[in-house]
Amino acid sequence: MSGILRRRCEGFRQIKYYMASFRERALAVASSRSSQRHCVEEGPISTYFGRNVFTVEKMRKFLPADALQAVLSARTTGEKLPRTTSDKIASGMKAWAQELGATHYTHLFQPLTGATAEKHEAFMTPGPDGTAIEQFCGGALVQQEPDASSFPSGGLRNTFEARGYTAWDPASPVFVLDGTLCIPSVFVSYNGDALDMKVPSLRSVQALDKAATRVAKFFNSGVQSVRVNLGLEQEYFLVDDALFNARPDLQLCGRTVIGHTSAKDQQLSDHYFGAIPSRVEAFMKDFETEAYLLGIPLKTRHNEVAPNQFECAPLFSEITQAIDQNMLLMIVMQKVAEKHKLRVIFHEKPFQGVNGSGKHCNWSLRTDDGVNLLSPGGTSEDKLRFLSFYTSVLKAMADHGYLLMASVCSLGNTWRLGGSEAPPTTLSVFSGSTLTKVFDAILRMKEVDWDSGKDSISIVGTIPEIIPDNTDRNRTSPFAFTGNRFEFRALGSSANAAGSTFVLNAIVADSLRQFADRVDKRIAAGEDKEKAILTTVRDFLKEAGKVMFEGNGYGSDWKEESLRRGLRSVNNAAEAFHAFQEEDSVAVLTGTGVLSRTEIDARVEVLEETFVKKLQIEARVIGDICLNHVIPAATAYQNILAENLRGCREVFGDETDWLGRAPERTYRQIARLINSLSDGVAALVEVRRKANRLTDTSEKAGLYSTAVMDAMKKVREDADHLEMLVDDALWPLPKYRELLYL
Ligand code: ADP
Ligand code: MG
Repeated sequence: MSGILRRRCEGFRQIKYYMASFRERALAVASSRSSQRHCVEEGPISTYFGRNVFTVEKMRKFLPADALQAVLSARTTGEKLPRTTSDKIASGMKAWAQELGATHYTHLFQPLTGATAEKHEAFMTPGPDGTAIEQFCGGALVQQEPDASSFPSGGLRNTFEARGYTAWDPASPVFVLDGTLCIPSVFVSYNGDALDMKVPSLRSVQALDKAATRVAKFFNSGVQSVRVNLGLEQEYFLVDDALFNARPDLQLCGRTVIGHTSAKDQQLSDHYFGAIPSRVEAFMKDFETEAYLLGIPLKTRHNEVAPNQFECAPLFSEITQAIDQNMLLMIVMQKVAEKHKLRVIFHEKPFQGVNGSGKHCNWSLRTDDGVNLLSPGGTSEDKLRFLSFYTSVLKAMADHGYLLMASVCSLGNTWRLGGSEAPPTTLSVFSGSTLTKVFDAILRMKEVDWDSGKDSISIVGTIPEIIPDNTDRNRTSPFAFTGNRFEFRALGSSANAAGSTFVLNAIVADSLRQFADRVDKRIAAGEDKEKAILTTVRDFLKEAGKVMFEGNGYGSDWKEESLRRGLRSVNNAAEAFHAFQEEDSVAVLTGTGVLSRTEIDARVEVLEETFVKKLQIEARVIGDICLNHVIPAATAYQNILAENLRGCREVFGDETDWLGRAPERTYRQIARLINSLSDGVAALVEVRRKANRLTDTSEKAGLYSTAVMDAMKKVREDADHLEMLVDDALWPLPKYRELLYL
């Protein structure tokens, strides 16, 4: 061997040592970790549940009577807090928070980034002569003006003015987290435009309350209001933080951009509902404890389908609280995971080839007197009420299903939807066999003898008492009725649920308004109320027929069938964002007062920009990983093979039988793949540059969602193939089989 060659081989051996030790170090650290608990509360959960929340009971202790009354009426009637009272509220809040060790306060809001935002301020104010006091006034409680010029606003704020205000939403209780008093807030522009997820959500709840109360009054004139209930199931992955830190893609994108599937992952369904690994259980118990202290009523925990994938769910509650608590839960889980040297991955598709994660929205409507309007009930009247609400939801789905599916679109969900066990990209509603039969019967009574009135009621009377047992929970449907609620499964695990539920609330509100209008019109024309309602139910069933589907949503025949029915599917997120701007969508969103036209346009711009920026990052990361990790490792192995081939030749001369066939074959494959990968990365850079030159955001998002994504897929294929060929000891990144097993 020549001197140069020998030195080169030495060099590669050093690289080999360095690279292997990097991944191996991470693996060694990961495998040595124990399952220790960190936050242990004594006694039953009920003894410490909600300790860190400023509940009404605590307000009674810390607030004077007039201040307490002001908070309560702000909650029920939305009345503004007078300045004098807000000072008293702030002072009582501070006293309570200080008992829990709080030194700072922050408005906690939900900007359009989809995450939460906070800016902490100390209670401490310097006094005279080097002293200090703790101060918190009503003004600071009610309103903050964070320098929020960097939040995406879709052009709603002039950046030179950059004024956005956060304002306390008194309906959401304040709480103490890690020594900071957190004040749940809305975020609006100087002109009052919504800059966050919460404002449209609150507006949608109001719109739905108004429309649903109108319909509920047909059955009980005493109904004063209708509330929305939401139960959010949260799926997530856990990865050891040493391994996480050894993967630049997990660190920067929250998902792996390359990685060959593990020979065994979820094929045997042995993880789903399996025994929870002890290290994970310790983590779960700790974050649950923290959640209980914050009044989050977590009920369930279990292993999900993919290895290292888990789920938790609280008991459902009123929608605003459910969403706020879900956002808070995600923060708490991240914080607690740090103590356990774990990382929680909320990304929708962290690992290609295994299930992604969703955030299932269990949604129902309840009157102020406690009746679940999506529960079939026992009497004929109950059933008719149920049918009125049910078919109104169906009609909303038939008219605006595409908009609802578009509302879950994000880059993360793009990698998940339509994939393994993820909901299909077309919206359909699963009702179960019992209800389907009832609907058929209602539709078939073309010639009802309305005068007798009895026929109509007897049809309604045929709905069996116990519907929940008859819904067989079709898991392949994106929108399924599960006995007393609908479960919307297309939302991504990292999303703020408000982004989709305000659409759901708005379209159902619009549908219920139409229902009430039609019934009122019939009654005004002299029709009997029951008949008017049943006829409207039947009309809605007819109009919503196309969206009802009981079969397998994963099947290829459903794709064809849904096309035949004229149902639209979201195949490209960049395109789907514009669903918000279609005439029908604008009419329903502005008509219900949920978003103004300006706010819609701003949101679409933010969605597109976020999509492009995230994809830009992913495209860079995959390029860097290929150039800095994959190609060097493959080249190092290629050189070892070359050395081996040269050795064979030295020993065997021209005896072709003995020449290393295997190393030669691998050498050639690797050489081809390295070239192809290097070309692929160059092509990716080129197409990215081309996209970046576009000034129109929509066009840019369009090119990113097609050409850039395609180029990334090609690069990944080569990189993953190389992972299979290169010596395991040389591979620098933790592999799927290592990441996916704690
Ligand atoms: P599964 O995984 O079988 O769907 P889970 O127990 O994980 O069930 O989650 C179901 C969620 O639905 C929980 O948050 C639960 O509180 C919620 N839920 C139950 N009934 C209702 C209802 N009427 N309205 C809204 N959410 C509900
Ligand atoms: Mg569940």
